[in-house]
Amino acid sequence: MRDRSLYIHIPFCRRKCPYCSFYSISYDEGLARAYVDVLLGKIEDIEGSVSTIYIGGGTPTVLHEGLLGKLLSGLKKFTGDNIEFTIEANPESLDREKLGLFLDRGVNRLSIGTQSFTDEKLQKLGRSHTAEEAAKAMDISRKAGFNNINIDLIFGVWGESVAEWKSELKKAVQSGARHISCYSLTYEENTALISAKNTGKILPLDEEVVAQMYGYTLDYLPGQGFGHYEVSNFAKKSHRCRHNLNYWDNNLYIGLGASAVSYLDGIRKTNVSDIKEYIKKVKAGEDPAASSEKLSDIDRAKETAAVKIRTKEGIDFRWFSEKTGFDFCGLEKDVLPVLVEKGLIEYKKENKHCPGTQLTKKGFLFSDTVSSELL
Ligand code: SF4
Repeated sequence: MRDRSLYIHIPFCRRKCPYCSFYSISYDEGLARAYVDVLLGKIEDIEGSVSTIYIGGGTPTVLHEGLLGKLLSGLKKFTGDNIEFTIEANPESLDREKLGLFLDRGVNRLSIGTQSFTDEKLQKLGRSHTAEEAAKAMDISRKAGFNNINIDLIFGVWGESVAEWKSELKKAVQSGARHISCYSLTYEENTALISAKNTGKILPLDEEVVAQMYGYTLDYLPGQGFGHYEVSNFAKKSHRCRHNLNYWDNNLYIGLGASAVSYLDGIRKTNVSDIKEYIKKVKAGEDPAASSEKLSDIDRAKETAAVKIRTKEGIDFRWFSEKTGFDFCGLEKDVLPVLVEKGLIEYKKENKHCPGTQLTKKGFLFSDTVSSELL
């Protein structure tokens, strides 16, 4: 089936990073074995093809080679010439043997959780790896034969200066990565980081400084050949992440594993965020979803607007009406003039025609606000 993606969540990490709100727990060999077994059963049940596979987490590479090999063997039925197959890896748990295994089983894209190239910042973020390990992970990945590599970076950490962020970006460009994702540090509910902020242990960076960092990124990376194609994402030619583009087009996706989300047949389901519960339910032949909602056509159209506007190309009106059955300007008539007036979005101009709309530079800074207005 065209444009259907598969996401598999591996919820194990060496330790919890203080800023992280994803569902993850400490590695447990017995649980990991049982989890991979139920995942293989779910994979077997999937009929038809998928256009992209993304194994994320958590930290998929905390699984040892034997378990990773087992999981990847189950996915063999989907792999082929035209599939994008990504696996997330953290520098401290990536080695030559795992890289060889990935290549052998059809993985053709790596996403490395680099986050920073400086030890001080990595320590602040509570990461398990050092700057040297981050550089080594990139080096061994390239030498193993991977050329489609993303690195994740975080900016806006307390105490960080614009000059320091500029230097991080320079190292990222020199690293050989073909794709760079830059995320500003956020203080999520129920994390150790927000407690540290609320008790005054850390003083978040001024929003103005964070905006300067992001503004610089928007100018600098495209100048180095990394096209900006979504709020946080930059890629060299032909290296955009097809898996994520599928989300931003609001296409279908299957999510396997604890806390994973699926969107199929007009229904969005979110699996239980508890690995033991997930295993129990799947083994008992029950649906592991904790919640399920059927979206109305209008909700679905608005959601498409909210995700698609995050892309650099923005929303093409004809594409939108073909995809959703709604006229974009009619659907968003109440908020559209307000967003334009505030300078957050602009109409595209082509030969006096207006084929669509997109975020302005200011709009990229406030993309979450724009998305929630369109919802
Ligand atoms: S390694 Fe990633 S998923 Fe795991 S706790 Fe840290 S940020 Fe979260």
